[in-house]
Amino acid sequence: MTRYDYDLFTIGAGSGGVRASRFAGRLGARVAVAEERYLGGTCVNVGCIPKKLLSYAAHYGEDIRHAEGYGWRGAAPVFDWRTLLENKDREIERLNGVYAQLLAGAGVTLLRERATVVDAHTVEVGGRRISARYILIATGGWPVVPPIPGAELAITSNEAFHLRELPQRVLLAGGGYIAVEFASIFNGLGAHTTLVYRGERLLKEFDADLGGFLAVQMQNKGVQLRFRGNIVRLARSPVGNGLRATLADGAVLDADCVMYATGRAPNTRNLGLEGAGVKLSDKGAVVVDATFQSSVPSIYALGDVIDRVLLTPVALAEAMVVAENLFGSGGRSLDYEGIPTAIFSNPNVGTVGLSEAKARERFGDVDVYRTSFGPLRHQLTGSGEQVLMKLVVDRKSGRVVGAHLVGADAGEIIQGFAVALKCGASKSQFDATIGIHPTMAEEFLTMREISV
Ligand SMILES: Cc1cc2nc3c(=O)[nH]c(=O)nc-3n(C[C@H](O)[C@H](O)[C@H](O)COP(=O)(O)OP(=O)(O)OC[C@H]3O[C@@H](n4cnc5c(N)ncnc54)[C@H](O)[C@@H]3O)c2cc1C
Repeated sequence: MTRYDYDLFTIGAGSGGVRASRFAGRLGARVAVAEERYLGGTCVNVGCIPKKLLSYAAHYGEDIRHAEGYGWRGAAPVFDWRTLLENKDREIERLNGVYAQLLAGAGVTLLRERATVVDAHTVEVGGRRISARYILIATGGWPVVPPIPGAELAITSNEAFHLRELPQRVLLAGGGYIAVEFASIFNGLGAHTTLVYRGERLLKEFDADLGGFLAVQMQNKGVQLRFRGNIVRLARSPVGNGLRATLADGAVLDADCVMYATGRAPNTRNLGLEGAGVKLSDKGAVVVDATFQSSVPSIYALGDVIDRVLLTPVALAEAMVVAENLFGSGGRSLDYEGIPTAIFSNPNVGTVGLSEAKARERFGDVDVYRTSFGPLRHQLTGSGEQVLMKLVVDRKSGRVVGAHLVGADAGEIIQGFAVALKCGASKSQFDATIGIHPTMAEEFLTMREISV
């Protein structure tokens, strides 16, 4: 008989929690996971997956218009938001089922309730106390809306996936990836879309060229961008059924829907962590070491709740480290260098490695190769859409340390280049690689002129 009810008790069946629980189960551990809301967490239910489905929907609308240049004629089809949401929900239900099967297949007990931490080895679930050798906090994050008057009238990405109707006028607040993705979605689906951002450049966490270039492309597609704008008050509009946003400079914007995408906070409130002695950061994230162990040795945490890199594949990789270290051969850690990512705006953005500014900080001398051009695909559409490609090279070693792209399918393209960067590929190896013609991506191999 072991002392504990389970070897591992995971709180949260999102990307990280499910992966850690499944792999721990497969390694022979007795595992239970508690989930209070939805199986698969943010990514499956209100994140990556439904976001990309909505993004596809928005792209189809544009493709139909662009097809005219390729000879397609006839009445344009009419977009139906309800159909999209019903089909999206059906797909998510399917994925929820897949997650349940994965857990069951690994022998993991699923408790569909909220769990809280009582002490180093005890959790409380639905009034029951359960003991575990290890507790894993994988509770993710939650969107934050600033406490302005009328904040309760705004929605976040959580609600955007369940709107009863497609709003005709959408006002978005934020300049990060979720803001630009939803601006592109709403705009592409036909809503009059305005994005208000306090800063001066979109995507400020990425290479500076990306946000500037994307802004121009989004504006060309019809998104209204207002930089240095700050919403200070929301109220019901005195005209019609909409909302009225007042900006700090006194400007007034009317919209049917106001969506905030200004940040997310770790989900640690009322979780019992402080009482159990778990150290939290100022932002409420669980503080962990390189092995994801918290200040309480039996309590681990991973994914968005540790507030390192808020991406599903990162949560999955962290989960593998935890499962292997606790129940497998051990000795694992995670290399956070060179994590590729995509932004599913229109056009897409894909990026891996260092921005030019970060590369200069780290290496001093860097060579930058930059090109922008109208891709072949759009020569007949008349859309005027442009592509940006950029390579950042450490001059001393000749290694490519950053690859950045704004253009269609940027994520698909950058994924492959991420492997090359991980392998330490040099610019001369890029140059020696034969391109695939005619593609957009071949330009990454033909950039010879250093930008000044
Ligand atoms: C709009 C949006 C788009 C995104 N797009 C992408 C993308 O394209 N690519 C990408 O890589 N990442 C994307 N992300 C980020 C990605 O969704 C997260 O990084 C990922 O889901 C983190 O996984 P996690 O396991 O840490 O947390 P989550 O997936 O959030 O899972 C946490 C789970 O814990 C549950 N929970 C919380 N508290 C408790 C409790 N006390 N008891 C029981 N259960 C609890 C929650 O209900 C939730 O299911 C997106 C996020 C958002 C919001």
